[in-house]
Amino acid sequence: MSKIFLKIFSGFLILIVTLSALLIIFTYYTVREQYLETLTNHLKNLNYSLSATIEQKLDTKSYFELDNYIKKLDKKIEARITIILPDGIVIADSEKDPSLMENHRTRTEIAQAINNGFGSSLRFSRTIRENMLYVALPITKEGNIIAISRVSMHTKDINNLYTQLRNSILSIAVILTLLSLTGIFIFSLSFTKPIKSLVEASGKISKGDFDTKLFLKRNDELKVLADSFNEMTTKLSSSFHEINKQKEELGSLIAGLHEGLIVIDKLGQIIISNKSFEMMIGRGNLIGVDYWTVLQDTKVTKLIKQLKSQYRSITKEIRIDDGFYLCSGSYIEPKEEIILIFYNITEMKNLEQVKKDFITNASHELRTPLTSIKGYVETLQMEIEDKHKPFLDVIEKNTDRIIRIVDDLTILSELEEKKQEPEFQSVNLIELSKNIIKILEHSATSKKLKLSFDSDVNLPLIKADSFKLEQLLINLIDNAIKYTNEGTVELKIYKNESTDRTMFSPKIVIEVIDTGIGIPKEHHSRIFERFYTVDKSRSKKLGGTGLGLSIVKHIVQLHNGEIKVESELGKGTRFIISIPSV
Ligand code: ADP
Repeated sequence: MSKIFLKIFSGFLILIVTLSALLIIFTYYTVREQYLETLTNHLKNLNYSLSATIEQKLDTKSYFELDNYIKKLDKKIEARITIILPDGIVIADSEKDPSLMENHRTRTEIAQAINNGFGSSLRFSRTIRENMLYVALPITKEGNIIAISRVSMHTKDINNLYTQLRNSILSIAVILTLLSLTGIFIFSLSFTKPIKSLVEASGKISKGDFDTKLFLKRNDELKVLADSFNEMTTKLSSSFHEINKQKEELGSLIAGLHEGLIVIDKLGQIIISNKSFEMMIGRGNLIGVDYWTVLQDTKVTKLIKQLKSQYRSITKEIRIDDGFYLCSGSYIEPKEEIILIFYNITEMKNLEQVKKDFITNASHELRTPLTSIKGYVETLQMEIEDKHKPFLDVIEKNTDRIIRIVDDLTILSELEEKKQEPEFQSVNLIELSKNIIKILEHSATSKKLKLSFDSDVNLPLIKADSFKLEQLLINLIDNAIKYTNEGTVELKIYKNESTDRTMFSPKIVIEVIDTGIGIPKEHHSRIFERFYTVDKSRSKKLGGTGLGLSIVKHIVQLHNGEIKVESELGKGTRFIISIPSV
C-alpha cells in the first residue's frame, strides 16, 4: 500500500467516521426529543379523554368505584393512571392501593398542573420504584380544580424504544460509512495508482532507464502530467545519449593523445589520466592517487601552486625518471581542478645536447690549430717580402675573426650549460664599470666619441658573476662604439625603486645609450639570436661575430634579469637591463 494512498484513505476515514458519529448523536437526540414530546402529547390526550368520566365519578364522590374503573382501564391502555385531589390526597391509582400512597401535592407534575394547567416530569417513582414519565392535567368544574388526573408510563418501555431507535440509526450509519469507505477506497486507488506509476517510472529513470514510459487511460491533469513526463524522458534520453557520445569521443581523444594528460582535483588527487601518462610514469590505475606520489619533481608542486594563485596557463620543463617533459598546466576555476599535459621533449633535449657538445668540442678542437696558425702568420710577417704582406694581413684578419667566433661560441656553450645554482659573489658595479670604461676608452677616443659613466652614489652591492657582468658590459659598450660614428656613448647604472612589478621593480638598472646608427624596429626582436646581424657586411667589416648580444642575453637570464632595446634609425640605441638587487 503506498504512503499517499494510506494518507488519503485514512484522512477520509477519520472524516467520515467523525461525521457519522456526529450525525448519529444529533439524530438520536433529536428523534428522542421528538419521541418524548409525542409521548407526552399522547399521555396528555389520554388525560383529556378520561377527564369527563372522572369528573362524573367525582361528583358522586364514589372514589372506590373510580379506583376500580381506573384499574380496569390500565390493562387496556398500558399506562398508569392516578387521580389526586387538589390537596394532594390520592383517591385512585391503576396500579397501587391509593390509601397506601403518600400525599402527592409536592410532585413536580402535580404542582405544575395546579399552577400552570399542565404538568410533566420524567423521574423515579418512589411508589413503584421505577423511572416514569408523568403527565398531569387539572379537572375543573365551574372554574375550580376538583382533582388532577395523571397518566404515566414506564420508562423501560421508552428505553426499549430508544434502544430500537439507536440500533436502527447505528445500522444505517454503519452501512452508509461502509459504502462511503468503499467509494473512497476506489477513488483513492484510482488517484494514487497513476502517482505510484509516476514514482516507479521516476525511480527507473534515476537508475538510467530512459525508455520508461507512462500510459494513463484517463482525461485529466494526471494524463497531462504523464504526457509531459513521457516528453521529458524522451528529451532526457536523447540528451543523455548525446552526452554519452561526447564523453566517449572525449574519452577516446584523451586516451589516444600522444601527450600524457592528467586532471587533478582540488585535494590533489588524480581524477583523469590517459594511457600515455601511465606509460610515461610506468604505472596504471591512477584514479584517486595523490599526484605528488607519481610526480616527484618539485617543479610540478610549484607549478600547481602558481596555477592556483595566478589562474593562467603555465608551462615548465620537468624531469620524470630519465626523460624531459614540458609540463603545461591550466586551472579550471569553477571546479578548482587542474589539467596537466606532458610533452615528451627528451629527444629534442638530447639533440640539443648533441649540438651543444658538438659546438663545445669543435670550438675546443679549433682553438689550438687557430692559435698555431696565428703564431706562424706573426712569425712569417717578419720574414716575408713587403709585396706579399697584404696576403698575410688577410690571413691574419680572418684567423682573428675565426678565433673570436670560436671564443664567443665557447662562452655561449658554457652559458647554455645551465648550472643548477650559479655561484654568485657580491659585486661592486661602480668599480667594475670604471675598469671597463678604462679598457674601452681608447677605442672610443680613436673614433672621437665621448664615453661617459654615470651612477647612483649609494648603489648597493649585488650578487652576481663579476666575470660575466664584465663580459656583458664590454659587449654592449663595444657594440655602441662600433655602431656610432659621432656623438656619445653613455653607461648609466641606478637603482629602480618603482613599485610596478611588471617590468623593472626593485632592481638595478643598467643602460647603455649611444647616438649611433640605430636599429630598425623590425630587427628588435631578432638581434638577440645567434649569428643575427642587421647588416652582415657592416658587422663583418667591424669585426662582429653576430654572437655578442646572444651572449649578453644569456648572462642577463643567468642573473634572473630582463633586457630590452629602444632604438631609432639614425638617432641612436638604448639597451636597458634590469637585474634583481638582492
Ligand atoms: P655583432 O658581433 O654583429 O655586433 P651582436 O650580436 O653584438 O653582433 O649584434 C647583433 C646586431 O645588432 C649587430 O650586427 C648590429 O646590427 C646590431 N647592433 C647591436 N648593437 C647595436 C648598437 N649599439 N647600435 C646599432 N646596432 C647595433
